Order: sequence, then C-alpha cells, then structure tokens
Amino acid sequence: MTATVYYDKDADKTRLDGKRVGIMGYGSQGHAHALNLRDNGVDVVVGLQAASKSREKAEAEGLRVTSAAEVAKESDVIMVLVPDTVQGALYKEAIEPSIDSSKTLMFAHGFNIHYKEIVPPPDVDVSMIAPKAPGHRMREVFVGGSGVPSLVAIHQDPSGNALANALAYGWGVGSMRAGIVATTFKEETETDLFGEQTVLCGGVTSLVKNAFEILVEAGYQPEIAYFEVFHEMKLIVDLMYEGGLTYMRYSISDTAEWGDYMAGKKVIGPESRAAMKTILARIQDGSFAKEWVEEDARGRPNMKAARERESTQQLETVGARLREMMPCVDDKKPS
Ligand code: NAD
Ligand code: MG
Repeated sequence: MTATVYYDKDADKTRLDGKRVGIMGYGSQGHAHALNLRDNGVDVVVGLQAASKSREKAEAEGLRVTSAAEVAKESDVIMVLVPDTVQGALYKEAIEPSIDSSKTLMFAHGFNIHYKEIVPPPDVDVSMIAPKAPGHRMREVFVGGSGVPSLVAIHQDPSGNALANALAYGWGVGSMRAGIVATTFKEETETDLFGEQTVLCGGVTSLVKNAFEILVEAGYQPEIAYFEVFHEMKLIVDLMYEGGLTYMRYSISDTAEWGDYMAGKKVIGPESRAAMKTILARIQDGSFAKEWVEEDARGRPNMKAARERESTQQLETVGARLREMMPCVDDKKPS
C-alpha cells in the first residue's frame, strides 16, 4: 500500500479541547458530523437559515442551532456542509465577514476550493475530511461503535497544524476507527467527479439504458429485458464489492465468464476510452465545473429537462411496476 493511512493512534484528540465546531447545514453529512462530534464530547453548534426545515430536527437532538453568520463568528472550526452549489454564496454572506487566522475552514468535498468558487484568506487553515459514505450510514455505523473511512486533505496550512487538527476532527466524527487516507483537494475533487460521471452514475445508467432499448427494439419483452440488464446488476456488484472481479467471475457460470472476457472489451472499447479521457480533461481544465456553475445560476433548465426525460423513459416505468411486484425489493421514490 503506497497511500498514507491514519488510524486512532495518529489522532491527538486533545486538539479539540476548548474548541467550538460550527457545522453549516444539517442534511445528509451535517447531521452525522454534528451528532458524532457531540457524542465524542465536542462543543458543537449548527448553522441554518431561520426557515430551515432541518432546524427542528437538530434541536430535537439537543443541538444548539443559530444563524450561519453567528456560527461563523463564534466557532473555531467551521465545517461547510451545505450543498456544493450553495457554498459560494454562504461563504460570501455568512463566513467571509468573520473569518480570520484563529479559525479553521473545513470541507467534506473539494469542489468549491479546487475550482476557486471560494478563496479564503491565505492566513486561514483550510482542510478536508471527506467521509466515504452517505451521512445516514456514517451516523448508523458510529452508533454501532465503529466508523466509516474518510479522506483527509490540506489546502492551506499557515499554522503548521492543519493536518493534526483535521485528523482530530476525523477522530471526532468516528473515521479514525476505520482509517483516514491522505489525498489532496485536486485529487479528491477530480477523481470524485470522474468516478460519478464515467462509472458510478453516468456510465452505469447509460450502459443499462442502451442494453434495455436494444433488447426491446429487437422484440423481447421489456419485463425480461429489465431483469436481465438491470435487476441482476446489484447481485453482480455485491460479489465484486466483496471479493473483486476474480471472486465475481468465480461465482458466475463459465459461460458468463467467457462471455465477459469476449464481449466486455468490445462494449467499452477505444471509443469509450477516448470519451473518458475527454471527460477527464474537461474536469481537469475546469470546463465541467464552469458549465455546472452556470447551469445552476440559470435555474438549471437543462438539468430539469434531462430529469424529466430520464425519469419517464420505458426502462423506468417498467422497472417501477416490477419492483412493486417483487417482495424482495423495497421500492423507493424521491420524496
Ligand atoms: P444536503 O443537501 O443533504 O444538506 C444540505 C443542508 O444545508 C440542509 O440541511 C439544508 O437545509 C442546508 N442549507 C442549504 N442552504 C443553506 C444556507 N444557505 N444556509 C445554511 N444552511 C443551508 O447536503 P450533503 O449531501 O450533506 O452535502 C454536504 C457536503 O458534503 C457537500 O460538500 C457534499 O459534496 C459533501 N459530501 C456529501 C456526501 C453525502 O453522502 N451526501 C458524502 C461525502 C461528501
Ligand atoms: Mg463521491
């Protein structure tokens, strides 16, 4: 293993003694950070808008909630856990007026710092603890006595203590129990975007959609097509997750394994590799970030149109009907 990994013994948790941690936002990540830190004895305050629906939830947990500007003023550590598209405005309005060299600014994803949507003063420590799990999982695992792994990165370290302080925060949210892997804001941001675009979200959905359409156009029943190219994917991914490609291939039939070797490289061939490289280049040179920030500022017209188109396609209507019929699947809808 060449990557640097930190564990419990590397954390100096006394660094949080007498320090107040301000958590901006109480969504997926915010609630998990705030509650885990609080349970570890850290002084926590949550920053939310007056009308926020999350306010009641945080207060019901016994957390103190106040405005983002007040939180920025009174906290030693400010962790920004509002949506990435909101962070620039929140920084300008609520954090910038009171940020100074006595405070540490923290993030759970590098987008706004890496693409310079937020430019903190040079005398402020800026670091990242990025948990590698959804917030609800992070809280659940912590309550069960363990933790989820995180990434740690340092953007600016004028105090010379940014890493030690970030690791203490990582201990506070429970990640030291699982290990914290060292990265940079650039690496975390670019690989995160590349992963979700080419594989996890964009790649997988397009692969399934194209295969489904080809089977249906060729006259096969949509329900059968759904089972073959969509439903079974989870079972295969579970095997990969547990034992890598080798274990998955050991578990499937020899016919499936042979077909895998023969067909896979034709489906994802030179053309797809070239597309992935273009996508990576657009992430690296900032074109993707610029386009997304502009789309968001215009009220997301293309995003809304794509959401409508994608959610009403046949793959989705057939899938919803089948999932309702399957007792083994707990069908979920956006709320
Ligand atoms: P979220 O959408 O779940 O929660 C956002 C919270 O911010 C909500 O409580 C909302 O009320 C609050 N909020 C919105 N606008 C606000 C404002 N102007 N002032 C104060 N509060 C405001 O967000 P999330 O998914 O937890 O993401 C937060 C950060 O964590 C992002 O940087 C994201 O990239 C990162 N991250 C998320 C996950 C995840 O599992 N969702 C995992 C790793 C990192
Ligand atoms: Mg990610």
